[in-house]
Amino acid sequence: MIIAAIVMFSTGFILIAWLPSKLRKIKLMIGFILTVLAIPIATFFVSIPNTPQIFGIAIRCVQTDEKIVALTYDDGPRSPTTEGVLDVLAKHQVNATFFLIGERAEKNPTLVRREYNAGHELGNHTYTHPVLIFRTPSFVREQIEKTDKIIRDCGYDKEIFFRSPKGMKLLADSWTLKKMNRKNILFDTVAWDWDSPGVQKIVDNVMKDVRPGSIILLHDGCGDEHDVVEASDIIITRLKEQGYKFLTISELLKKDCSAKI
Ligand SMILES: [Zn+2]
Repeated sequence: MIIAAIVMFSTGFILIAWLPSKLRKIKLMIGFILTVLAIPIATFFVSIPNTPQIFGIAIRCVQTDEKIVALTYDDGPRSPTTEGVLDVLAKHQVNATFFLIGERAEKNPTLVRREYNAGHELGNHTYTHPVLIFRTPSFVREQIEKTDKIIRDCGYDKEIFFRSPKGMKLLADSWTLKKMNRKNILFDTVAWDWDSPGVQKIVDNVMKDVRPGSIILLHDGCGDEHDVVEASDIIITRLKEQGYKFLTISELLKKDCSAKI
């Protein structure tokens, strides 16, 4: 898509070059319009989750032929969804990674402890879940450090992973992550569960994109309270039938150090 913006921009300039020099005003106007269009288009495509991050490391999946995936749950903790997801994970004896919103974790430390005591990993999903792409480095740093402290105060002592809200990333935010030596753990399989599309659709969205090494994005903190619980039960059952094993993010990353976008 970035290529599309570049092609559009380049084609425009070639067309401008072909115009007779008498049409100087028109040339300038076309150049201005192309610039105005190309900048936001390029910015948008650089900021979305499935394009490379400008600074530092973002990971969407790992390269492997092994049937392994990581389940990740964002935006919690939120009752009763988080408890429901934990019950489903316990029933299937699989571990996942929860990317927590700091202000929610602060209000529900018991649920956070329940998550890591069950063997799941915890990640930082900022304090208030702002999109970070046009924020200052100090704002980004404060959102991350505040949430790290809350997670540590809950007693969690393992590595805290980071995921940017909505998976978006641009300049100051990715620069700050690089300076803080933090990877951005993104995803290649999206359940689109925040739109509450119903259990079947959530399952279908995951099953059509999942492959060996996938990081699957689900939400225990938004969307319908119960659908993701039911959908998780079905997704885990189906993936197990296909021979998949479920790893936490740290376990998945050990499989492929080159995992990067
Ligand atoms: Zn989120």
